[in-house]
Amino acid sequence: MLSDIRYWEQKASEGKYAIPHFNVWNAEMLMGVIDAAEELRAPIIISFGTGFTGNTVFEDYCYMMDSMAKRASIPVIEHWDHGRNMTILQNAVNHCMNSVMRDASALPFEQNVAEIKRCVDYFHPLNIPVEAELGHVGNETVYEEALSAYHYTEPEKAKEFVERTGCDSLAVAIGNVHGVYSSEPKLRFDILEQVHKDVSVPLVLHGASGIGDEDIKTAISLGIAKINIHTELCQAAMEAVNANKDKPFLAMQREVRKAVKERAMYKINLFGDAGRADE
Ligand SMILES: [Zn+2]
Repeated sequence: MLSDIRYWEQKASEGKYAIPHFNVWNAEMLMGVIDAAEELRAPIIISFGTGFTGNTVFEDYCYMMDSMAKRASIPVIEHWDHGRNMTILQNAVNHCMNSVMRDASALPFEQNVAEIKRCVDYFHPLNIPVEAELGHVGNETVYEEALSAYHYTEPEKAKEFVERTGCDSLAVAIGNVHGVYSSEPKLRFDILEQVHKDVSVPLVLHGASGIGDEDIKTAISLGIAKINIHTELCQAAMEAVNANKDKPFLAMQREVRKAVKERAMYKINLFGDAGRADE
């Protein structure tokens, strides 16, 4: 069933677990994560973004996302990830998405505030919640280099940012990056702890693929309520392709769906999200 991200992020925040956000952009990934959520009775977020439009036409694919979300027996949220401008987000909402992230985190603080405020003012009357990012989660690169120029979330700014923008959730930059980590992630839990103390909205961890299980548990204990996973789903899919490359394509496709399901189940269990659909 289609569900409201605010309800589940709030519940996760209070219950010290995290709701998984799975980026999906083909049939196997979408079916795989829904299979996992159904089996574990777990609320999940299915998400699309501009980075996938070279592979999949969103304006067609959205109807499969919407149909599967509505037919599922567990709560599902349809989310647009890292929206770069209002036009993209309006298109997302016009095509079934019921939650958006507006990412203006590359801009200076005041411009980020202005952009998110404008976005919230536009979407809240439409009952669409808005996630924002403060600090800047980098993109795939050499990890040590990414850290040397990293923009961590500043806790004292985070409180002001949330109050001035009215955003519904906040993505933090605490040493996390998107894509594959070239060396062990070093998360600044001191920053997370302080942001959680100062800020009233649920916190979001991007770039969580490749972060160790113990660090994920620590992050959840310190206030992370939504965790984004993409790279690990791709890795699971690729492993299934390689392990089944001599099989007919139809059979291989089923193995890919199964591999995505298994990885998603692992994350759902790790995040403490299993069984929450029935609470
Ligand atoms: Zn992200």
